[in-house]
Amino acid sequence: MSFSGASTNEHYLERQSRRESNARSYPRRFPVALQSAKGCIVTDVDGRSYIDCLAGAGTLALGHNHPEVIEALQQVLLSGLPLHTLDLTTPVKDRFVSDIFDTLPSILKERARIQFCSPSGTDATEAAIKLAKTATGRDHVIAFRGAYHGMSQGSLSLMGSLGPKAALGHLVPGVHFFPYPYSFRCPFGRGPEETADLAADYFERALNDPEGGIPLPAAVILEAVQGEGGVIPAPASWLRRIRKVTRDLGIPLIIDEIQSGVGRTGTFYAFEKAGIVPDIILISKAIGGGLPLAVIVYDEALDLWQPGAHAGTFRGNQLAMAAGSKTLEVMRRDALVERATQAGGRLRAHLEHIAAGSAYIGEVRGEGLMLGVELVDPFGRPNLQGHPAHGGAYARLVQADVFRSGLILETGGRDGSVLRFLPPLVISDAEIDRVADIVGSAFARLERQAA
Ligand code: PLP
Repeated sequence: MSFSGASTNEHYLERQSRRESNARSYPRRFPVALQSAKGCIVTDVDGRSYIDCLAGAGTLALGHNHPEVIEALQQVLLSGLPLHTLDLTTPVKDRFVSDIFDTLPSILKERARIQFCSPSGTDATEAAIKLAKTATGRDHVIAFRGAYHGMSQGSLSLMGSLGPKAALGHLVPGVHFFPYPYSFRCPFGRGPEETADLAADYFERALNDPEGGIPLPAAVILEAVQGEGGVIPAPASWLRRIRKVTRDLGIPLIIDEIQSGVGRTGTFYAFEKAGIVPDIILISKAIGGGLPLAVIVYDEALDLWQPGAHAGTFRGNQLAMAAGSKTLEVMRRDALVERATQAGGRLRAHLEHIAAGSAYIGEVRGEGLMLGVELVDPFGRPNLQGHPAHGGAYARLVQADVFRSGLILETGGRDGSVLRFLPPLVISDAEIDRVADIVGSAFARLERQAA
């Protein structure tokens, strides 16, 4: 079968818009039909190439079609291994479990259990909440404003953003949202240096207040760096306080590493910067080497659910496990976790330079190769807390501008005002410099339009 594109973007996009759901999202911002991809570059059927700083929403640690991952896949395909195994074990799976356990902090590695989930991140969220509820016998959950844990209805109930929930009515009850330490827009209306302490104090007091209205929860779930919420890293001090309070009160702490894990932030898991160990870790995206895979890894003390408590037909994706093991091997060999820090530093320096010359950029932030640029509206009115007006409309202009120049960048955060950089960890210095050139030119055009 040949898939070579005899036709144009226009042809495929017209067919797509006629036949696919109105809920489709990325094609609206990136109107292309993709033909091929290699490393950080994707090429459409018209022959135009783009630097891919979306990379499967942070999935492709090694970039597209890494030759060693392709070879690992070919080996599985030719080996006669069943490609569908439910949750039965195989040598590929056994190796993959060892590889994941080797990434864990040693204190958890000794006590770790793994549950394979249906192969999307949101099912790991569902599994983790079920596990925590079963193990504690409690049913309330604490999540954080701005959180994103997936799009199934249980995960949506933990989501900060109201838009995707608006049409759905009641979701899972018993979720309480707490302020996340978003220092650029301090939820307490105070200066950025106070935000983390205030947020931790508030959390601690609320959970220890017998008249606070919040029963002891089954779990606290958080992202150590909020991704879809606008690339907001939680300070290490806040993470340590949340860990201490949850441990003191016997509340399982779930850390969602679906986007921030597998080296992206410069440590294998983003929580490592705080020296803490969660009770449950959600892992997906990059762990499948670009193929669908999701797991939860947790402390064996919680392993109190019954056989079949979390099932699903597609939990045995051998190809994804082989691709995941190979990805971890290449990451170790090529020191890609360290590379994320180094490459992220280079990109960040460029972005800060661009920010210094633009009234539209409020903050450059992030960790490793999970970076965000928050746009503000320099002509808009500050809100009641004195925060600058959101610059979502400008973020969308920049996104469209850089796309025309050959760069794929996603937006996120409140009002979609944050440009998000999630390139493959293998991005070269030359590619980073090219990304910065394109972004810098787009901001220069924005400034000129306003003048
Ligand atoms: N959790 C986080 C932090 C995510 O970023 C995502 C997806 O972007 C999910 C969960 C959901 O993963 P999936 O889209 O594979 O269901």
